[in-house]
Amino acid sequence: MSAKVLLVEDSETQRIFLEEGLVSAGYTVETASNGAEAYKKFFEFAPDIVVSDIMMPMIDGYQLCRMLKSKDETKKIPVILLTVLDKKIDAFWGKKSGAQLFLSKSIDIKELSLSINATLRRYPVSDEYKASIASLAKQENTAQTQLNTILNDLLMKSVFANEFRNLSDFMNYERILVEKMFSLLSSFVEYNVAGVFFSSPDDFSEKILYIDTLGRNLSKNLLSDIQYDFFRKIEEFKDCKGSKFEVVRMLLGREMDYVFSDLKSKIIIPLVFDKKLIGGICFYSRAEIDYATFSYFDIMISELLTIFKMKYQYTEKEFMSVLDGLTGLYNRRQFEISLEQEHNRSKRHMSEFSLAILDIDFFKKVNDTYGHQYGDYVLKTVAEIMKKSFRKTDLLYRYGGEELVMIMPETNIEGAVIPVQRLRRSVEEYDFNYNGVKAKVTVSIGLTMNYQEFNTAADMLKSADEALYKAKEGGRNRVVLHDGQ
Ligand code: GH3
Ligand code: MG
Ligand code: MG
Repeated sequence: MSAKVLLVEDSETQRIFLEEGLVSAGYTVETASNGAEAYKKFFEFAPDIVVSDIMMPMIDGYQLCRMLKSKDETKKIPVILLTVLDKKIDAFWGKKSGAQLFLSKSIDIKELSLSINATLRRYPVSDEYKASIASLAKQENTAQTQLNTILNDLLMKSVFANEFRNLSDFMNYERILVEKMFSLLSSFVEYNVAGVFFSSPDDFSEKILYIDTLGRNLSKNLLSDIQYDFFRKIEEFKDCKGSKFEVVRMLLGREMDYVFSDLKSKIIIPLVFDKKLIGGICFYSRAEIDYATFSYFDIMISELLTIFKMKYQYTEKEFMSVLDGLTGLYNRRQFEISLEQEHNRSKRHMSEFSLAILDIDFFKKVNDTYGHQYGDYVLKTVAEIMKKSFRKTDLLYRYGGEELVMIMPETNIEGAVIPVQRLRRSVEEYDFNYNGVKAKVTVSIGLTMNYQEFNTAADMLKSADEALYKAKEGGRNRVVLHDGQ
């Protein structure tokens, strides 16, 4: 049986010329004079191949091609686009629209039929597939409806992509990234509870499921039920067993208690890239919602995957590197290694060393008032002041977000308190000024040394942390020593 060609061409003379040529070359030919008519005839005629002009009124060749390629039921039928233009951009759009071949109109009939045969051989389509196209003829949308669907879809994709892309500015502060992500997700997904989890490349980091409750304060039981539910599903993808999971409530508000079984609908989506679990996301709702059928979920997940991928790679890079990118101080991993080393060394040599943790006061407010860039500037500047306040032999690190730590070898707590107080005072006196915007900032510091009572480096760190907590409680902008001195 001869192959069926649907020929689409708006110029009558050209159409007749091509039709005659193709018929005499042995094809069965049906013609259409524009994209809309072609779309309709496509279902009635169920061709083996479409040969279409590009420049046509109303619905052009690219659009026709896109329409056919956007549906599973029609996309397998090969399309050859013909054009008089010989521009790169046309070839680009031709490819983008999904056409199998892009030919110059000046091609003669013999060459065209060779190309058609080659294309048919390369993209064979089963008889069942063709039969199913014909069976769709009656129920199929008009070209205009189909085109609108595609356009809406494209618009939605690009809006989504834009919104999600903005999140990439916050790669280096997880909490802010999560806050922004929730605020975006809550603007178009209906939920009572949403969760976000970033898997990290190392196995030591604590696994945190960030939870958004839309300003509601949920009971501890409910939160741990959700945590259990989420990680049970996620565990199938990675060996997370035995890991400690910390639940973080993002937005606290009015008390509102309900139990897990009140949540009627849920979806838990593990995000996997390169066979690695890079994170997960979940939604729970008290209403009956069939999340799985949401048409925009696919687009959302592909955008989320991009963000999670970037985040994963960022964490990986951080983990591999020694220095913190923002402050130029050593990073947390280095701190953990050094503290352990210093602890062991002091045990062997009966030597003393001190440890201080600094936390910027009301830093959230700095960010909220002046923006994150200002926050970054403050953090960088505090790190600079810190470098000036200490000896070259002292070791300075960025411990986490806005927490900086100092290890002072061969220094007891009486000696350490001097540079630590100097640092606190220098920050207090410093006139922060970024692009003409001025601010005053203070810091709280917890200080400790390697007392006998600490068996491990972790004990010592904990005591510094407790002292810092007391400094905050005591009114901030102060240094508190271990044991509350
Ligand atoms: P407190 O005096 O109790 O320490 O108040 P705070 O606002 O500083 O407390 P908290 O530790 O809860 O908030 C720290 C905030 O610092 C959270 C986050 O928004 C912000 N932050 C953490 N890391 C960075 C960073 O690298 N850059 C900026 N701009 N902000 C950060
Ligand atoms: Mg803090
Ligand atoms: Mg703080």
